[in-house]
Amino acid sequence: CGIVGYFGPSQKSVEIVIEGLKRLEYRGYDSAGVSFIDQNNKMQFYKKAGKLDNLKAELVGKDTIARACIGHTRWATHGGVTDVNAHPHNNEVLSIIHNGIVENANEIKRELAGHGVKFKSETDSESFLELVTYYLKQDVPIKEAIATSFKRVVGNSAFVILYPKTGEIFAVKRGAPLVCGVNEVTSEALVSSDPYALAGMVHTLYFPEDEVLVHLSGENKNIANFYELDLTKTTRYLSKKQ
Ligand code: GLU
Repeated sequence: CGIVGYFGPSQKSVEIVIEGLKRLEYRGYDSAGVSFIDQNNKMQFYKKAGKLDNLKAELVGKDTIARACIGHTRWATHGGVTDVNAHPHNNEVLSIIHNGIVENANEIKRELAGHGVKFKSETDSESFLELVTYYLKQDVPIKEAIATSFKRVVGNSAFVILYPKTGEIFAVKRGAPLVCGVNEVTSEALVSSDPYALAGMVHTLYFPEDEVLVHLSGENKNIANFYELDLTKTTRYLSKKQ
């Protein structure tokens, strides 16, 4: 339902993401969660059924100094309202959040189960996590792994992916809202399902078209880069100064 991701130098990325999610509360949701890269370059995640306050209570006393963070408020479509089904969905190499529906999730899950993949949740979203992971484990580079996986999922969706190996964030969507905001002064970039979550934090908003891969990394001296799914650079987005 709600998506917020932060990439940049602030050590308060978790707070920034939760503040963004708070602004999206009015849309309704049943669970909330965050994942982030901590000071030891390790991925941490916390997710809880219920209100954002449940998640906040869970984070009290935890080390949340982090340089990249993604967060989600869920409106369940596939699988009950439980902590395990809340997003992000994580394994040892990736963390993902998802808005929308993967219509062919069962088919993808069956195929991956045939390769020995075990699923933790009942969600359709986890099919995408494990599909990208399947390609990564075959030494497919991260951008290709995401692009190839995204071409396979059927339905209207937005995904945000945190890659703990490098701390980079990726986002891609089809038929679902996604905005990327950049603050050129502070070298911060955010993604969200709703520009309201980013108001006051960024100078330029980019609205990527469907099947444009957003990459927050600082690569090529740009905090945000945009690619077609064949990984050629693209300007298939609308941009708007705030
Ligand atoms: N289909 C996913 C789920 O049930 C995502 C729902 C959403 O957009 O919040 O977890």
